[in-house]
Formats: sequence, C-alpha cells, structure tokens
Amino acid sequence: MTTISTASLNREIDDPRQTDDALQKARADTEAAGRELAEVNKQLEDAIARANELAMEAETANIAKSVFLANMSHEIRTPMNGIIGMTGLLLDTDLDQEQREYAETVRISSESLLQLINNILDFSKIETGKLELEIIDFDLRVTVGDVSDMLAPGIYEKGLEFACMVHPEVLSCLRGDPGRLRQILVNLVGNAAKFTKKGEIFVQVSLEQETDTHAAVRFAVTDTGIGIPRDRMDRLFKSFSQVDAASTTRKYGGTGLGLAISKQLAEMMGGQIEVESKEGKGSTFWFKALFEKQPEDRRTPQVLPPYVLRKRILVVDDNATSREIVCAYLKSWNCRYSAASDANEALSMLKQAVEAKDAFHIVIIDQLMPAMNGEALGRAVKRTTSLKDTTLLIMLTAQAQRGDALRVKKIGFDAYLTKPVKPSSLFDCLVTVLSNTTYQKEDRRKLALVTRHTLSEAKKRGVRILLAEDNAVNQKLVLRLLEKFGYSGADAVINGKKAIEALERIPYDLVLMDVQMPEMDGFEATGIIRDPESKVCNHDVPVIAMTAHAMKGDRERCIEAGMDDYVTKPVEPQKFLDAIERQIHDLATDETDQGSGIRGQGSGTEYKENSSPVEEKISGFSDEKDVFDKSTLIERLDGDEEFLSELLSLFAQDTPLQLKELKQAIDDNDATRVTLHAHTIKGSSANIGAKALSNAALDIEMAGKNRDLNNARLLIGKLEYELDRLKTALQNLS
Ligand code: ADP
Repeated sequence: MTTISTASLNREIDDPRQTDDALQKARADTEAAGRELAEVNKQLEDAIARANELAMEAETANIAKSVFLANMSHEIRTPMNGIIGMTGLLLDTDLDQEQREYAETVRISSESLLQLINNILDFSKIETGKLELEIIDFDLRVTVGDVSDMLAPGIYEKGLEFACMVHPEVLSCLRGDPGRLRQILVNLVGNAAKFTKKGEIFVQVSLEQETDTHAAVRFAVTDTGIGIPRDRMDRLFKSFSQVDAASTTRKYGGTGLGLAISKQLAEMMGGQIEVESKEGKGSTFWFKALFEKQPEDRRTPQVLPPYVLRKRILVVDDNATSREIVCAYLKSWNCRYSAASDANEALSMLKQAVEAKDAFHIVIIDQLMPAMNGEALGRAVKRTTSLKDTTLLIMLTAQAQRGDALRVKKIGFDAYLTKPVKPSSLFDCLVTVLSNTTYQKEDRRKLALVTRHTLSEAKKRGVRILLAEDNAVNQKLVLRLLEKFGYSGADAVINGKKAIEALERIPYDLVLMDVQMPEMDGFEATGIIRDPESKVCNHDVPVIAMTAHAMKGDRERCIEAGMDDYVTKPVEPQKFLDAIERQIHDLATDETDQGSGIRGQGSGTEYKENSSPVEEKISGFSDEKDVFDKSTLIERLDGDEEFLSELLSLFAQDTPLQLKELKQAIDDNDATRVTLHAHTIKGSSANIGAKALSNAALDIEMAGKNRDLNNARLLIGKLEYELDRLKTALQNLS
C-alpha cells in the first residue's frame, strides 16, 4: 500500500512551480490510496466474517468436545467398572496361587487405569471450564466414612496405623458435591499412604466457621511419610508436577495431576488447599470447603440411654491418635471413660477399679498392640476372677480376617468392630452389647425412662412389626434394637417380595422397609401394599423406609411411593425409636378418630391422655397434680404398683446425677451437653408424671438449644425448686 507523506507534500506546495504537478500527483495518489483502503476494508470485513465463522465453529467444537468428553467418560468408565467388578468376583472364587496373582494384577492395573482416566478427563474439563459442582443434600459423615472404608484396608495392609475423626461439632446434613469432596479426600489420603512407609495417617475433619446458613469445614490429612522439601512445595499444586519427576515417578508412579485437580475443586467449593511439611518427617495437606446447611435440620443429638452412660468404659490402645479419637467420641456422648496405653496398664486399672468398688463395665481393646495384644488382654481379663463376669469386651481390629470373629468370640469378647471406628458403629455397639447381657432386664426398665412416648410394655408387645431388609447384619441389629425398645414380636424377611407374602398372611401394625433390596425393592413393595387391588391384609399399614444414602429427593421419593416416614442407616437408635413411636402414636390416634379397633391393642383415648405430657405449655406455677400425678401414672402402668416403685426409685437415683451433669455442663459452657441432660430430665420426669419438673427441664433444654447458657443458669433454680417439691410429694406417698 502507498503511503503519502504530508511533510513532503507541504514541501512541494512551498514551491509554486511545482504546485500544479504536485497537486495532480497528490490527487492521483489519494485516489489510489482510497482504492487501496476500500480494498483493505473489504479484506478486513471478510476477515471478520471468517473469524466469526471460525469462532462459531470453535464454539460448536467446544460444545462437541465437552459432549464428547462426557460421553467418553461414560464409555470408558462403564467397561472399566465391568473389568474391576468382574475381577473382584473372580477373586472371590476358588483360584490357585498363580491364577490369583494374575487376577490380582488385573484388578490393580485396572484400578490405576480408571484413576488415570478419571484424572485426565477431569483435567480437560477444568481446562475448558466445564467442570461443574453438583449441589445436593449429603451426609458428611457418610462421605468421610466411605473414603475411610475404601482406603483403610490398603493402609493397614502396609502396616500403617490409620485414624479418621469427624469432630462432634461438625454438622452432617450439608449441601454440596459429595462426589468431588470424596475425590479430594481419596487423593490426599491416597498420596499419604503412597508416600508413607511407617507410622500413621490421620484424617481430621473440624468446623472452621458456622453461620445460620453455611458451614466452613476443614479437612486435614496428616502422614508421617517422606515429606516434601521446602523449595518444592509451591509447585506441588501445578499440573503435572511431582517432587522428583525423574526418580519419584518411577518409584511411586502417578501423573502429578491429583493435587492440581484437588486445588481446583477446593477453590470451586469456596475454599483453598495448603500443605505443611518437613522433609523426612511427614506432611499435612489440608483444605477448606464451604457448604450450605440443609434447610431442614434433621440432626438430633445422639443420646445414649442412661444404662450406657452410667457404665465405666476403659479404652486400651497403644496408638495415641486412635485412643484419643475413641475417647473423644465417648466424651461427646458424656460417657464415663478412662484410657490405658497398653495391656498391663489396663489390667492394673481394671483390678484397682474393682477394689475401689467402681469397676469398669466395658473395655474397648485395640487388637494390634506391642508386648501383649488385644486377644491376650482379653484372655487375661477372662482369667481374672474378679473381672471375668462383669467386664464386657469390645475388640477393635484393623484387618479383619475370616475366622477372627469366631476366635475372638471364643475368648469371650462381646463385640468386634473394624477400624477406623465410626462413631455410629461404636454408638450402636455400646447400646447393643449392653442389651445383650444380664443387664437386660434392668436395662429395659431404664430405657423406658428415656422413651418419650409412654406405651406400656404390654402394649408394645402387642404391636406386630415386619422388617424387610436383605443385609443380615443390619437385620440383626434392627431386630435387636426393636427388642431393646420393648417391641419383641418383630418378624424379618429378606426382600420386598417376601414382605408382600408375609403381609398377605398377617395384618402387621408397622413395616420397616429397606429401600434397596434384591428381587423387589422397597418402593415397588410399598406400591403393592398401597394398591387396593393387591391381596395384603392392611393397605394402610404404616411403612417406614430405611435407606443407606441420604440423597436429595430420597425423602420425597419415599413419601411419593406411599411410605409414611424415613430413617437413614446406620440407624441411630433414638431417631429410629422416635420414628417408630410416631407411627404407633398415629395409629392409636387414628383409632380414636375412626372408632375402629382393628389395629393395635387398647383404646386410643387411653393413649391420648398419656401421650407427650412434655409438649404441653408451660404455666407459671404448678398445681399439686402437676408436681406428681400418681393416678395417671399408675393407670399407665396398668396398676402395677411394684413397677411404679421400681420406676420411682430408678428416677430418684438417676435424676440427681443428671442434674449434677447438667450443672457441670453449664459451668463448662457446653450448650450441647446442657441440651442433652435437660432433655433426659425432661423425658424421665414426664414419664413418671412429674409435669412441673418436666416443664422446668424443657425450658433449660430450649435455652441450651438457643445456646443461651445465662438463661439456663437462671432456670436451674426453678428446676431445683420443682425437684424439691417432687421429692416431698414422693415422700408423702410412702
Ligand atoms: P501424583 O500423586 O499422581 O504424582 P499429585 O498431584 O497427587 O500427583 O502429587 C504430586 C506430587 O506431590 C507427588 O508426585 C509427590 O511428589 C508429592 N506429594 C503429594 N502428596 C505427598 C505426601 N503426602 N508426601 C510426600 N509427597 C507428596
């Protein structure tokens, strides 16, 4: 293109002889330039049009790429899962040594291939900005538990200690992306295991911050592995970065993508990821993530029945982390516990406690301990006369092997839990072992104290319950819990089909329905029950769903399918009992309304009078009947005077202890424990017909829930006043 210099033009114009020529030339030049400009403009327009076209093509290509990625991800994962699943099945069959090794190699290789594929796919999704988080309701403890279940066996196999703790103050019912959370955790714990030869790996989940609507949670994975040199730390979270790519890759394998992906995910969850490490000592990788709280707060504090709370528990483990975790759980439930770091210390503590007339009832023992292991300690306890009949033994074992359970049982252990111990399993275990023993009779009576709704034992026995559950362990646990709650006549079947068959023969009062079962699942079975055309005896029988995962919409799905309520597994005894009694309660009220006596025993009117005295409004001052209503109580106990006095003496023993704990909790500024003890007093006093005391306790419970401990402290006076009045009333009885 021609450029016109204005400077030279000006010079030419200065010379009058050249003016005409110059002007003509300039005009010609300008015209030429104009033509060229037009040409360039046209080219530019064409280029823009082409660029637009290309951009559109690129956009289309991008969409095509992510669609392709999504499809490919599915396409690759499906056969990979087939390979992994089938290899697993193959490994469960009878194979000779050589075949087993080959199959094992297939399994390991396919697992690492799947991992690699997942990482590459994720990475390209992140690159194209296509990675999106799901927002669903999930249970944090279930997610963390899954990760621990999946990785623990491999870690223990390496001879490492593994502990996992979700602090009690962290709430479980959150909203977010559990799959991606799990992915970060698996990556961090997997790395910790990969880079640690001896020592321990510890996963800790704690609450960082909490508002009315959100919770910031901190996840830390600590190992005692090779550590990371200071100058390499900043590069760790970049893609394809490995500390010592040349040698480490060969030694440890991996792609160097895991941490880069984890960082992106943590940031997408509104948090960050960091590392602290000392070369040769170990590392802590931690990340924070922000979750929304579930709007409907389904949490109820886990409350152990008083018969567990009163028992002394000894925790024996040489590994301080694991020991402290078990102790922390026991503490959060207000148990009476002590700890020992080896078997000898444990034995002398047990004997001393007997001498001091405050014996331990339960010993929780880690199997793997130096010098004297768990089994040996168990044998020693069973050889000691003063201990053998009164001490219940719970074994914690890292690597459960076939035959272990039987052997441990023969020694005299009452229960057997796999490590790392989940609080829900430990909780269920404590409740279950105690209910299994000679304490049983005493227990049932005591349990009646914490039961809010007060059906008489006789009435409970008349309630016919059907349990449909395919998992044998769960089945056993639920049946045992039911028995412990006083519902002794429950039947169990293993799937929906069998449930329908049973319901065609027997008019059950309540069905507990597992959702996922082989042959016929819970939804389908409930559909048949509700179908007026089907042959079941009672189409209106209440159905409580039991399900392992709290997925978004599960509750809705259950209700839609015609179920009446919903509990999540692992079953929390108190919640479970509440759910059952809500249905039994509805059942009784229904009867009153309809005047029919088809279901259950006794009359609904009678039940109504007895139900939930605590729910009634608090009045300023209580009249005599509110202090202690003997006539209603004795009626409720079917006139059993002996049981009445037993109940009252239990109450008289238990309440001062509860009150003491309550005051201590207020002094400790521990709102959760305040709520818990006030709740217990509320329930037990309501049960014996002490309405005024119950109301006073309710006020404190509410103050505890509102974290208003000043108010709770003030209200203690009222509670003590009411307790005094009750004592006087009870003394006047005898
Ligand atoms: P990969 O493990 O697939 O190589 P990552 O991104 O997960 O990829 O990890 C990158 C690197 O960070 C590892 O190769 C290793 O050098 C280092 N690293 C990660 N976790 C640890 C750990 N717990 N201890 C020591 N080094 C670690």
